[in-house]
Amino acid sequence: MAECPVCFRHCKIEEGALGFCGARTARNGRVEAYHYGKVSGLALDPIEKKPLARFFPGTYILSVGSFGCNLRCPFCQNHSISWSEEARRAAARAETLSPEQLAALAEQTRKRGNIGIAFTYNEPLIAYEYVLDAAKLAKDKGLKTVMVSNGTAELPILAALAPYIDAMNIDLKGFTDRYYREVLGGDRRMVLDFITEAVKHCHVELTTLIIPGENDSEDEMRELSEWVSGLREPDGESVPLHVSRFFPCFHMTDRAATDVKTVYRLAAIAREKLEYVYTGNC
Ligand code: SF4
Repeated sequence: MAECPVCFRHCKIEEGALGFCGARTARNGRVEAYHYGKVSGLALDPIEKKPLARFFPGTYILSVGSFGCNLRCPFCQNHSISWSEEARRAAARAETLSPEQLAALAEQTRKRGNIGIAFTYNEPLIAYEYVLDAAKLAKDKGLKTVMVSNGTAELPILAALAPYIDAMNIDLKGFTDRYYREVLGGDRRMVLDFITEAVKHCHVELTTLIIPGENDSEDEMRELSEWVSGLREPDGESVPLHVSRFFPCFHMTDRAATDVKTVYRLAAIAREKLEYVYTGNC
């Protein structure tokens, strides 16, 4: 039995078994990434799709994903690779891409406008060893590195990655403990601490997906944007916020898509405190 150090769950994993995220196992008494190098998706995406609005706009980034997740968002848009049965089956038959192969591919695609590697699609932190190995190689080649994350990891994991990551988009999915705990299966405090530390090391943008009836109150957006306004990147820049529209998906099909007017109204509230606010999926 070994304890995973990555997130607040601190799963105690039997030899050969999987942790809650389905992406970490115990081998020889140590917990490690079970899907190391297993690829669920690989694409040259516009950087704005991560979303990053203020990091090399107009460029492309080679985006790679794997399998599993340490949250349980019922509306997951990427459920086929995150925490569904389908995801587990897909992981079992996925191909492997070594960090060396990934870095070489990133270099080859430079001529198509690629600036580096983005670890995205599923939660990269649950296979942080792969992110670390590939990001180091990318930095050696002068490439940029991006991580798109739910920010649900202990700070030593962030400390290991931070020297090799140039930008992150981190979900700040809401601003109540109840929503994080009861709807997402997460821990808001862990995410706030992760964001607070991440902004000291690299460019960070945040994303809030607005779910009708869950996190769409004006008061919650006021509190959230007030908190974000207290963050500053090392160069003194304020942190951008993406306010995004929900569409019914996966286990959350009991409500309509977020009204576009609601997204615009909440973005306007965020702009009272923040310099850079963007709307998404509208
Ligand atoms: S990363 Fe996965 S295995 Fe580790 S504590 Fe979190 S859920 Fe458990």
